[in-house]
Amino acid sequence: MKILKFGGSSLSNDNGLKNAIEIIENKSKNESIAVVVSARGNSTDTLENMLTKASRGQNYSHDLSVFKRYQLAPEISLDLFHEFELLKNTLEAVRTLKDYSPSVKDLVLAQGEILSVKMVTALLKKRGIHAIEVHAKELLVTENKDGIHTVDEQQSLAKTQSYFKKIAPNTITIITGFIAADRSGQITTLGRNGSNYSASLIAQFIGAEEVLSYTNVNGIFTANPAQVDDATSIPNLSYQEAHELANFGASILHEKTIAPLAQAAIPLRILNTFNPEFNGTTVSSRAHQNGVKSISVQNQVSLIHITGAGLLGKVGIDARIFNTLQNLNVSIGIISQGSSERGVSFIVAKEDASKSIVALEDTFKYELAHHDIDQISADEHIGVITIIGQNLNEFHNPLKSLAQNNIEILLINNTSNGNNISLVVQSKDIDKAVHLIHAQIFGISKKINVAIFGKGTVGGSLIDQIVRSQKKIEKRKGILLNIFAIAGSSQLLLDKNGAPSEWRTAFKKAPENFSNVDAVIQFAQQNHLENLVAIDNTASDGFTEKYTTLIENGFDLISSNKLANTKSFEFYNDLRSTLQQYSKNYLYETNVGAGLPLIDTIKLLHDSGENITRIKGIFSGSLSFLFNQFSERDESFSTILQEAINLGYTEPDPREDLCGNDVARKLLILARELDLENEFEDIEIQNLVPEILQDLNQTDFLDHLDQFDTEYEKIKSQQSENHVLRYVGDLYGDLQQSTGKLKVELVSASKFSALGQVSGSDSIIEIYTESYGDRPIVIQGAGAGAEVTARGVFGDLMRIADKK
Ligand code: ASP
Ligand code: MG
Repeated sequence: MKILKFGGSSLSNDNGLKNAIEIIENKSKNESIAVVVSARGNSTDTLENMLTKASRGQNYSHDLSVFKRYQLAPEISLDLFHEFELLKNTLEAVRTLKDYSPSVKDLVLAQGEILSVKMVTALLKKRGIHAIEVHAKELLVTENKDGIHTVDEQQSLAKTQSYFKKIAPNTITIITGFIAADRSGQITTLGRNGSNYSASLIAQFIGAEEVLSYTNVNGIFTANPAQVDDATSIPNLSYQEAHELANFGASILHEKTIAPLAQAAIPLRILNTFNPEFNGTTVSSRAHQNGVKSISVQNQVSLIHITGAGLLGKVGIDARIFNTLQNLNVSIGIISQGSSERGVSFIVAKEDASKSIVALEDTFKYELAHHDIDQISADEHIGVITIIGQNLNEFHNPLKSLAQNNIEILLINNTSNGNNISLVVQSKDIDKAVHLIHAQIFGISKKINVAIFGKGTVGGSLIDQIVRSQKKIEKRKGILLNIFAIAGSSQLLLDKNGAPSEWRTAFKKAPENFSNVDAVIQFAQQNHLENLVAIDNTASDGFTEKYTTLIENGFDLISSNKLANTKSFEFYNDLRSTLQQYSKNYLYETNVGAGLPLIDTIKLLHDSGENITRIKGIFSGSLSFLFNQFSERDESFSTILQEAINLGYTEPDPREDLCGNDVARKLLILARELDLENEFEDIEIQNLVPEILQDLNQTDFLDHLDQFDTEYEKIKSQQSENHVLRYVGDLYGDLQQSTGKLKVELVSASKFSALGQVSGSDSIIEIYTESYGDRPIVIQGAGAGAEVTARGVFGDLMRIADKK
């Protein structure tokens, strides 16, 4: 004989009922079965709520009529008069008395299973199947131990066996789960989620072959699938592992379910009513080869703290805590105590918290009055995450990733046999923490949640590049780059599942006149997004003011925007302190020389103690082009400038390039990498724009480019032989001091020197160091352009992702 058990969710709607009936029908064709059912859907909760309302004198009649309607099925006639009358009368009596006894509660809650059995039996009969209703008070007997119903196994065994002996063959019994009776025949219950336990007991008593427990999910998962998308169903569990899971809140398993099955070596299969072909999870004596890991969460708990300096070294405090709670029948979960004993914290069920505090305050009234104990308080906004099958020695990566995501662990506890770890965290962090731990211990791709600010040429190219290589990176490196936010200047696209490849179309439809950093932060919080990175591809000064807020809210930063690094040294320093305080990264490789690995190289040299003595180079791609062409060709300066404008090599107003500020900023950024405390104002900048053109508006300026020609012709012709013009940034002086010298100027260089041989729009940077002497490290290549800049930003993103 096999026992089939259907949980409440399996029977909650027409579709579930239909599937359940079909499963019963199919199974009964080939083997003999007995069926145990739970109350349908949330019936037990509803009954409990009505009881609470009634006991407070509140009106429950609307709830009752909704409940009644739910228990009826349109296509069958059910006689539920007796149950409905009982509920009505009992609830009314409770409302009058404003109180109820535990046995009244049992009686009311039991109606859920009784009604469910009636419905299932009637539906089977309608199909011509020979099914009978069985009230489990005929099978299971409980005795009262300290106010808790405990199953009397001897009597229950005898009753169940004799009952089944009388059942005619080919009859399918439909049995109420959850319910039993005490010795006097009064209805009792086995505790919430108790139907599984009923099924196990009956299976044990009649020596069933197997228990098939039908739920609404594909078995037991590595984590709650409603919480973690990547959670997978675990095919095999040992009794012991399943028992651990049950203890730590896997609601599929009542904590007592496993013992009877383990005793009789009866396998338990957890199956899905809505996907009956799926194998689900089998619990048996056969253990999983590599051991099983699973994450469970307990929400209905409180953390009680007893704190006070006077606890130091006192003997007997713990014993008094335990005694007090034992008298209340309250069990203590995780407990932690500092070695200095300045405080004791422990977990109890949420419903037990307030009475525990009242009792503890009484126990410790002397210590409270003498301020040996400051206070006894409870924190309700917490949860316990338990990782079953996890050894603490192999848990450093999850811990690191929790820390990186600013998740504070209030308590940590591991069992001495090394099999389980429990963490107490704040409720707001639970979701994120479960995701991070799950990704770490199952080696599933870690998700990096990226917000991109600015979707112009660089930002746009970056998004394209990421979208294009996302899949490959996930496969190759196990890193999933998820762009959850794209912010333009007046529009914001948010999607926790990431930007689609057609992101431009999606962006057009994003709400208008709405784009701000706070909305992005809020979205990340609401969706519990982990591993946050913000990328600034704007050229906005205002946006840099938001960096601190982003860091404080858990974001690492990347920017192609140079402004944050070239404002006052004070701003620069404050930003670094904030980064350090929150253990966050800020990368900006593209601030100088676009994608060229320049900052990274300089940082590495500097950090490894190498004395950098000078940095000199051509930092601007547009000015590189301009002077390379001008030096080589026999054309006027304005002709070449016009060409550069037409090719899009300059800013719309070329004076922004020609004034030298951009080169100066890059030089300043490098100086600050060397810990020099220079300010922008310290830089000597040669403005390449003749004075008469400096104050014109853009159109007038563009109309008078020929004003450059006489002067530049003269400069060009006055050079020595084989010399060319180059616009150069130079950082020199004694760089071991707190400031260096920074100069940006037009120079005449030998055609055969490193600077002189540059062509196209390349950048070149020479890094002089003590060890390398007069042979500098030279980095040269395309130092501008949206694609290469985006590539450089992408590189920064991968550097951060690798650290997670
Ligand atoms: N109906 C009961 C409850 O909801 C028992 C069960 O479903 O297992 O707790
Ligand atoms: Mg660079």
